[in-house]
Amino acid sequence: MLRQRCPRCLEGRVFSSFLTMRDACPVCGHVFEREPGYFVGAMYVSYAMAIPLYVALVVLLRPLLPWFSDIAVLAAGLPLVCLCAPLLFRYSRVVWMHFDWLFDPDA
Ligand SMILES: [Zn+2]
Repeated sequence: MLRQRCPRCLEGRVFSSFLTMRDACPVCGHVFEREPGYFVGAMYVSYAMAIPLYVALVVLLRPLLPWFSDIAVLAAGLPLVCLCAPLLFRYSRVVWMHFDWLFDPDA
């Protein structure tokens, strides 16, 4: 999962470039988007990854910015999370596909 590989064969790369996802696995031919709207579930994964990341960044920023108000520290964490959006996009889709494959491999 960390290497962002196909959930079925664990060999084929899911992404062909930084933000471009392949339609199917180049090794085993597994179609990544199993049905229309398949990646809506990845939004929940992305949310579940982004919120702890945001909280961690704010906790780290608080002692680094003691002259900032709490609201300003919360606001300062938002652009940092936005910088991580491409990674969240990639990993949320890969985690979603692996999770789906684990519980429903033949659908
Ligand atoms: Zn594969």
